[in-house]
Amino acid sequence: MPISADFKGRLYPHLEAIAAHFGTPFHVYDEAGIRQTAGQLKTAFHAVEFREFFAVKALPNLTIMRILHDEGFGFDCSSIPELILAREIGAQPDDILFTSNNTSAEEFAAALAYGGCILNLDDISLIDKVPDMPDLISFRYNPGSQSSGNSIIGNPIEAKFGLAHEQIVDAYRMARERGATRFGLHAMIVSNERDYQAFVQTTFILLELVERIADKLNIQFEFINIGGGLGIPYHPDDKPLDLKTMAAAIQRSFAYFTRMHQYGPKLFMEAGRYITGPHGVLVTRAINSKDIYRRYIGVDASMSALMRPAIYNAYHHIAVLGKESGEDDVVVDVVGSLCENNDKFAIQRALPPIEDGDLLIIHDSGAHGHAMGFNYNGRLRPQELLLRSDGTVERIRRAETIEDYFATLDFESKTLPIGKT
Ligand SMILES: *Cc1c(COP(=O)(O)O)cnc(C)c1O
Repeated sequence: MPISADFKGRLYPHLEAIAAHFGTPFHVYDEAGIRQTAGQLKTAFHAVEFREFFAVKALPNLTIMRILHDEGFGFDCSSIPELILAREIGAQPDDILFTSNNTSAEEFAAALAYGGCILNLDDISLIDKVPDMPDLISFRYNPGSQSSGNSIIGNPIEAKFGLAHEQIVDAYRMARERGATRFGLHAMIVSNERDYQAFVQTTFILLELVERIADKLNIQFEFINIGGGLGIPYHPDDKPLDLKTMAAAIQRSFAYFTRMHQYGPKLFMEAGRYITGPHGVLVTRAINSKDIYRRYIGVDASMSALMRPAIYNAYHHIAVLGKESGEDDVVVDVVGSLCENNDKFAIQRALPPIEDGDLLIIHDSGAHGHAMGFNYNGRLRPQELLLRSDGTVERIRRAETIEDYFATLDFESKTLPIGKT
């Protein structure tokens, strides 16, 4: 479950050679696994008009995005650079959802100028800030007390996202007055959720709301978008999301809606983690060990490469190449080099005895891994590699260099002579 047997079989026998050739640390992604999950998602939702818009923030790499586009996916972008990435690989306006929040008027103008996209507005006040109301418009709904959310995204009442229940009908009315003729409705209520009921509930909430709005304004909805947030099992004891049962329940509610209304909207989804998360690992070499009050294993990656353990106290499974866990496990903290005590990939974890030079494989780094990295303490982000379906390994992003780190200091200085006479 952390790493699939297939990915392990494709990767582990060659890992020493890959590490020797490209150097450590690196994230390596598995094309065959990504395509397999993409296929499973499309198969599961075959009974409705379904489309996945991959959440670019999970793994913003052009090569990966090309693979997903080839699978027929669109892209969910929330900033101009993400939108440019999608345009760069040939995504068309219909292939791009722009789900931003706290958006500036300039950002809307740039999003529309950059060839267009499907706008998904996060607030009623933004209707007037869109320079030209597009034909097709979507709003993000926050159900408030109708849903309890979950621990990562929080209780909807406390979440900054979306429009309140009382605003939603007015929002579509106003958008229509400004010229919109086609409509979508979006909600994302949970994150990293493995209980499929959460997504069935989101679907119910959205389909009911579509009925209510359609009734009041006499409009039809082109799509509902149930967001991302599909969870993956990070811990070996975690149960995976039951995708098939979830898809069957969601498709039943669509069939019912279609019977009642003689039409059915399309179903959009914007999963990130579920698509690529399990199909990436962070590979790092043990470079030090120290024994003080605890035993520490120092590796050549830091939290700049994978923030989730430090920010969310998230569990990422760790394997040591060539050493199966056994009775001789040693309890250690696995740490990077930042001057921050939360720069730890594992805390008090039982692992096989590790020596300098061993390769550690930190699982499930394929989403919100490299992308979340930062440069605090002058620690640079590592390279990204792709294990191709044909067995070749390709570098798809180089490691950051000291020149990259200094790039924002290399500019023509301007001064404002305040108070100078
Ligand atoms: C982050 C995000 C996603 C993707 O979340 P995952 O947990 O990676 O599926 C999708 N949609 C929106 C609006 C998001 O902010």
